[in-house]
Amino acid sequence: MKIERLVLGMLHTNCYIVYDEQSKEAIIIDPADSYPKIKAKILELDLQVKYVILTHAHSDHIGALDQLADDTGALVCIGADDATILNDGELNLCSYLGNSCPTSKADVLINDGDSLSLSQNTIKFITTPGHTKGSISIVFDDAVISGDTLFFESIGRTDFPTSDTVAIFNSIKNKLYALDRETTVYPGHGEPTSIGHEIDNNPFVW
Ligand SMILES: [Zn+2]
Repeated sequence: MKIERLVLGMLHTNCYIVYDEQSKEAIIIDPADSYPKIKAKILELDLQVKYVILTHAHSDHIGALDQLADDTGALVCIGADDATILNDGELNLCSYLGNSCPTSKADVLINDGDSLSLSQNTIKFITTPGHTKGSISIVFDDAVISGDTLFFESIGRTDFPTSDTVAIFNSIKNKLYALDRETTVYPGHGEPTSIGHEIDNNPFVW
């Protein structure tokens, strides 16, 4: 599958567009902000959006969710434990950041080990709680989309509602670091990295 990254919004959030080159079926991960930019890329690549997947329900990852979901009819997928956060302006930080709270509801609740198909491809989910209780990571081909759990030489903040510092360490050490070292990591903010690079260099995880 092919992956495109758009950097959107005040907090420079990564929105990923993952698609099958033959069928043009696509998933959009974290429609952070600036829906016209997302739509322009969908049109440019001539994609059919089947799923919108949220790595977690924070405001800076969901700013264009309502417009995208309404416009495409794509199913909204989120970690089961973040589903109630999605429409709670306090827990999803929309109030704190001065953004309007999305009204789109979760269509598909993701649990650990779940998967879905996109054309002939399989997209797997692992729950990686800690940054929020329902944070998920998305695995396909030789890549993982890690949301705000693991960044290039850093990790997600755990000072938000439903955050858990012990849980984020366990998610990274037991689940993300269990992936192949060559796996490319596409985080929620900043540049891509790899599992091997983080095992060797991440100063926050030991
Ligand atoms: Zn976040």
